[in-house]
Amino acid sequence: MHVIILGAGVIGVSTAHQLLADGHRVTVVDEAVQPAEGTSFANGGLVCPGHATAWASPHRLRVFLRSLYRRNQPVRFKPKPDPALAAWGLKFLRQCTTARAAINTANKSRLCRYSQAVLHQVVDSTGVEYGGKRNGILYLHRTVASLERAAEDAKQLIDAGQRLDVLDRDQVLRIEPALAYGSGTIAGAVYAPTDETGDACRFTRELANWCATQGVEFRFDTRIVRLVQGRGRIEAIETDRGPISGDAYVLALGVHTPGFARQVGLNRLPIYPAKGYSMTLPLREPARAPMLGGIDEHSLLVWARLDDRLRITSKVEIGGFDTGHRPKDFARMLALTEARFPGAADLSAPNYWAGLRPLTPEGTPRLGPTPIPNLYLNAGHGHLGWTMASGSGRVVADVISGRPPAISLDGMRYT
Ligand SMILES: Cc1cc2nc3c(=O)[nH]c(=O)nc-3n(C[C@H](O)[C@H](O)[C@H](O)COP(=O)(O)OP(=O)(O)OC[C@H]3O[C@@H](n4cnc5c(N)ncnc54)[C@H](O)[C@@H]3O)c2cc1C
Repeated sequence: MHVIILGAGVIGVSTAHQLLADGHRVTVVDEAVQPAEGTSFANGGLVCPGHATAWASPHRLRVFLRSLYRRNQPVRFKPKPDPALAAWGLKFLRQCTTARAAINTANKSRLCRYSQAVLHQVVDSTGVEYGGKRNGILYLHRTVASLERAAEDAKQLIDAGQRLDVLDRDQVLRIEPALAYGSGTIAGAVYAPTDETGDACRFTRELANWCATQGVEFRFDTRIVRLVQGRGRIEAIETDRGPISGDAYVLALGVHTPGFARQVGLNRLPIYPAKGYSMTLPLREPARAPMLGGIDEHSLLVWARLDDRLRITSKVEIGGFDTGHRPKDFARMLALTEARFPGAADLSAPNYWAGLRPLTPEGTPRLGPTPIPNLYLNAGHGHLGWTMASGSGRVVADVISGRPPAISLDGMRYT
């Protein structure tokens, strides 16, 4: 079968690789000049099944509500007259119950854990290099109350098979001595020893290069304008460089997926952008820089050491498609980085970036078939697209190849 993949982010390229492995002819189309120029460009670098807890929960709802009246919150809901935002917001609200949070966490965790196993197979079979480090991630808490709540939440992931240890401050400093230099308080951490870090952009580009040498065709600098439907199927995609047609089509356009799905009557794809900010800093004193990935759960500061650079990400802003950023957007992140890891990074030469997480209210992507027989979805991976990419690619390839996926797609189907 000839499969056309729309989008060359980490999701589209991972799907291309799995379809190639199944013996299909694959063409990947993207408007950018190379892979991973969208949200996959400079994300937090965490491969983190240990952080699969649903965002929509009674606790998180309080955080979003607080952002409506308090300034400088790392999580912000920015109300605006956008019907898509209003509809998405209502759906998110409905997921903010304890019962729904448990179901969504189970679904996210299943895909994340499966995906990590597939990632290892991909790395073993292709040899792609992406600065991957399999040494665990620390989820830090500043107060005992917050640590206790996290330990309670962790139980569901542990029961599902995830390894998580609750550590006190001394234990945290033993496995991450760099934290001893900093001034931020630490009550303890949930430590996920099997979580990993790595550069998603480098992975995507190296995997795309590998796929290209094996026969996958990449059509870059090609803007997709429209899906052409006829006789109940997709017949082609119209691009600014002419039509491209195949036997099957996979929508992997990140936050832009719903707009194209709507063109062919698929109106129930609740993916909305959740903007985040990222800065990449050269290391100044490597001994003071963290060896493990981490998240300060109070400030929502995320760090990952990517070879000789420190990647810092933070903030969740729900309020539109703008990817713009100014230096002042990063002032708090710079100050927090220097407080946590003083002297570790060269703050004078940051690379700033902002991107849009393709977020569903449940936190699970939409994978596999649609009511249109030759149109498939692989989109809506939210804050965990790097973590979920390899498994999502495998699942979608299984569906297209007519095999039952290895995991249940409950909570991930287009309905
Ligand atoms: C600040 C931040 C931190 C994050 N940290 C993490 C993390 O630590 N761990 C983790 O697992 N996940 C993380 N994520 C989430 C992860 O980065 C995303 O879920 C993932 O990159 C989404 O990949 P994608 O391929 O779906 O989308 P994208 O990478 O955006 O790919 C979509 C592609 O579609 C193309 N496209 C769009 N429209 C058109 C068109 N009309 N024609 C042609 N091409 C088009 C774009 O050029 C783009 O290449 C983070 C995200 C952000 C923003």
